[in-house]
Amino acid sequence: MSSSLNNLAFSNSFGTLPEDFYSRVKPTPFASRAELLHFNANAASQLDLAPDVQHHPAVADIFSGKQPLPGSDPLAMLYAGHQFGHYVPQLGDGRAILLGEITNQHGEKWELQLKGSGLTPYSRDGDGRAVLRSSIREYLCSEAMHGLGIPTTRALCLVGSSDEVYREQIETGAMLTRLAPSHVRFGSFEVFFYRQQHEHLQTLADFVIQHHYPDLQHEPEPYAALLHSIIERTAHLLAEWQAVGFAHGVMNTDNMSILGLTLDYGPFGFMESYNPGFICNHSDHQGRYAFDQQPQIGLWNLTCLAQAMTPLIEVDNAKAALETYQDHFTDNYYSLMAQKIGFEQPDDAVLQLVGELLDQMQRSQTDYTQLFRGLGNIQANSKDTHPELRDMFLQRERFDRWLHDYRKRLHTAAKPDAERRELMMAINPKYVLRNYMAQVAIENAEQKQDYSELDRLMQVLQAPFDEHPEMAHYAEPPPDWAGSIQVSCSS
Ligand code: AMP
Ligand code: MG
Repeated sequence: MSSSLNNLAFSNSFGTLPEDFYSRVKPTPFASRAELLHFNANAASQLDLAPDVQHHPAVADIFSGKQPLPGSDPLAMLYAGHQFGHYVPQLGDGRAILLGEITNQHGEKWELQLKGSGLTPYSRDGDGRAVLRSSIREYLCSEAMHGLGIPTTRALCLVGSSDEVYREQIETGAMLTRLAPSHVRFGSFEVFFYRQQHEHLQTLADFVIQHHYPDLQHEPEPYAALLHSIIERTAHLLAEWQAVGFAHGVMNTDNMSILGLTLDYGPFGFMESYNPGFICNHSDHQGRYAFDQQPQIGLWNLTCLAQAMTPLIEVDNAKAALETYQDHFTDNYYSLMAQKIGFEQPDDAVLQLVGELLDQMQRSQTDYTQLFRGLGNIQANSKDTHPELRDMFLQRERFDRWLHDYRKRLHTAAKPDAERRELMMAINPKYVLRNYMAQVAIENAEQKQDYSELDRLMQVLQAPFDEHPEMAHYAEPPPDWAGSIQVSCSS
């Protein structure tokens, strides 16, 4: 069953909540003509939308807020949040508007949100707009994460304009249609806790349970169970980020999803040269959100959420829930790292191999994605010295010793070569969104109105475990010029 845009069954459950939860506000269309820059047929199919929707004559107007979708109920959601450790009492969707939700044939709800859609009551000093550069980055990265199998919001389409938007320089405005089962954030709870609106807190928790954690309705203590579930999902998400080498860049509590999704793509970065202290956000001078800080920041953020839920949960229960985080995280992370080197069980010997490898990679600034991908080609019984891997290290004899120990362990604890190789190629991506890849797509779009690179990257990143020989250069470490790219919160 596939729908056209005219007969979408659209509703907005969030809009049935009390008015304190949001502000009804319509998107502000661009002053200039809106142009569809990219349509993601893959995400559309998740909404049961046929791919030919992209040829609908009004598609650009619809996804830039000029022509309302029948049944939509646009609103900006209220939230607060801890930004870089400090509580900010009111944030909210300052440049995003929730249009409503579609329920697909499997009964899954997908909210559609327009990002970059103009001023809302929560815009504070902002202009309500998003620039093409940052919209392309979010568009590509959210789909890259989806392709990697990591929980994330998705992106349906990207609409551009020639409207001028002022950042460090003049740029053009764009709108992204973001998809998620829910955009509720940790900060959505925090705002009602700090305002002491505890009845709203309970209403929000009931809403989240009813729509997104329905199994918890029958628990003796549903709110504590909700906190437990959010902790488990967040720990799982953080393990996925660490294993793939993803740094979010702005893990403020307003950017943390109650569904454990990767949310709000700003100055993110995928690890290239392995460096645990990697800071992808040039505005993050203290390194609060450095790569290796992320797991503990996940817990810090969950502690803010737990505190906000204390009117609903006994303090001891909230503490007990938080204590489960570390085990959820390490169980998931160790298991993923073991799988990345071809073992099912993260036993001590396997974790020692992982630790020694990471240590060598750090000393040699080895490319994280390329190295793990290459390990899948090692055979247990061969004498091959693997120069293509060995050359990625400075201390080559040390790598030789690692390879020897690795093969010994493969003999005792791993599946046969071919089977193991297949599993490793399915967990170690060949492609991640390197900063310079996005940069090429952005420059082509900005300077030449050429969106073909965007399209090529979408195809590769949506299937990052496939070989794509024509794009193999993107599996290599970045060229020298990539070192000068800086990403900050400005978007
Ligand atoms: P972010 O750093 O993008 O997660 O945004 C933090 C807060 O600032 C959120 O409430 C955003 O809605 C708001 N915000 C960011 N950029 C803008 C903008 N250009 N106009 C209005 N609000 C913005
Ligand atoms: Mg945000």
